[in-house]
Amino acid sequence: MQITEIYKSIQGESTFAGLPCVFVRLTGCNLRCSWCDSEYTFSGGQRMGVEEVIDEVEQLSPRGGLVEITGGEPMLQERELVAAIERLLEDGYTVLLETSGERPLKDVPKRVVKVVDVKCPNSGAPDTFRMENLEALTARDEVKFVLRDRNDYEFARDFVSRHQLAARVNAVLFSPAFRKDAAGTRDASHCLLDPRELAQWMLADGVPARLGLQIHKFIWDPALKGV
Ligand code: SF4
Repeated sequence: MQITEIYKSIQGESTFAGLPCVFVRLTGCNLRCSWCDSEYTFSGGQRMGVEEVIDEVEQLSPRGGLVEITGGEPMLQERELVAAIERLLEDGYTVLLETSGERPLKDVPKRVVKVVDVKCPNSGAPDTFRMENLEALTARDEVKFVLRDRNDYEFARDFVSRHQLAARVNAVLFSPAFRKDAAGTRDASHCLLDPRELAQWMLADGVPARLGLQIHKFIWDPALKGV
């Protein structure tokens, strides 16, 4: 597998936010989101076998716990990735898989929690979610929408309603996009969409979703990588 980094930190997003988590960040992505804060994953990294990845995770979190597979787009390395995920599940880890849903998800082991980031119109990668992946979602999974503006919000709101997402998955997450060049201050001024405005829209419409903030960007300098 081509790996950018493996490290332990606090999970910043999803319903697992706040928990200690080992992040396995795979190299390579086939999308180019305008607000992407992981452009350093697009190339480089190092080649690691499945066993080497498992060993590294076990060193960082020897007694099980939470592991997030992320990127880049991890599903671009599906064959080796599924083998690694099956090993982690066998060893008792809870595995989250962060993906855009552009690649087929039907062969991802069902015990994995998929966190699927459906790209909105102003992401720079609209219409990339593979609609057949709706059928691969389970009651463990979470669907995330990263929002820049009202147009993105209305897309997400209508998508949730049209596909009855709240009944399909464990959680629907609406999250303001964050400036990719954010640095220094650890506050909501770096959000491209004001969380307060988003909260007001969600309350007015009664959207069955939870507002999510990337809490790692409020704990550490938002410019820091590997935290
Ligand atoms: S899918 Fe993720 S890693 Fe790829 S460009 Fe978009 S935000 Fe960046």
